[in-house]
Amino acid sequence: MEVIKSTEEIKSLNFSSPFALVPTMGNLHEGHLSLVKYGIENYSEVIASIYINPLQFGKNEDFSTYPKTISQDIQLLETLGCNYLFIPEKNFAENLDIIEPKFSDVLCGLSRPSHFHGVLTIINKFLRIIKPNACLFGLKDYQQQLIIKEFVKRKKIKTDIVSLPIVREKSGLAMSSRNNYLSDEDKKFCGKIYSCLKNLAASLKKKPLGVLKIEAINFLQHAGFEIDYLEIVDANNLSSVTKKTNKILIAVAAIYKKVRLIDNIVVSL
Ligand code: AMP
Repeated sequence: MEVIKSTEEIKSLNFSSPFALVPTMGNLHEGHLSLVKYGIENYSEVIASIYINPLQFGKNEDFSTYPKTISQDIQLLETLGCNYLFIPEKNFAENLDIIEPKFSDVLCGLSRPSHFHGVLTIINKFLRIIKPNACLFGLKDYQQQLIIKEFVKRKKIKTDIVSLPIVREKSGLAMSSRNNYLSDEDKKFCGKIYSCLKNLAASLKKKPLGVLKIEAINFLQHAGFEIDYLEIVDANNLSSVTKKTNKILIAVAAIYKKVRLIDNIVVSL
């Protein structure tokens, strides 16, 4: 695997088409690796990137303490057979025009108001300089992939945005770099978030959505989680469910021992 640390160099490379980009912030786990594996199986070449994007962190968030395991990450990518790893320079996020996302005033965008602006600004830069045939994302960050899909379509960027399934711990907890802040016991306990989403999904036709939402919030609060949000929305545009809705998103952000955990389930109607 070739490790590239300069934007000029990545711009000058000739990748074999079709090639896929997998953007990450590192501290790789099976969730990230599932994207790289998918890339290797379905494209001629795969470029992973590791960049802890300062623009997507709020003032009181964990930018400076975000887990960094670069040599371990390189080894994991190499073992999988990833072709390139791009580690941009520190000034990669400087002097960029901030891009205004759609669908960013709900769910995670409410408590992290500039988060998706930061994500989109950097992803746009990646797409413009690398020009991949596809860019692979995890459905764990449902709102993120929806925002990027809408942007790429609106701007007619010729990259397929491919969204791939959530990889989970045995307990059901969605894998995340932030799970590193939790003990094994905590991770097992936090499986309750996914159980709660599954129960809610199974009850969608049995009770009004407002009732299901309150029941789920109560369940998680009693279990010991602080709830940032739990919403049941139209998965196509994150707005209220209507008679026309054909796909429902049940999304949650719950805080356990100061760790903010997100998860979701999509149900086709
Ligand atoms: P991050 O390093 O958190 O920015 O994540 C990089 C990519 O990996 C994003 O597209 C995430 O949605 C994806 N990802 C993170 N966790 C998981 C997971 N548990 N399952 C699937 N994809 C994931």
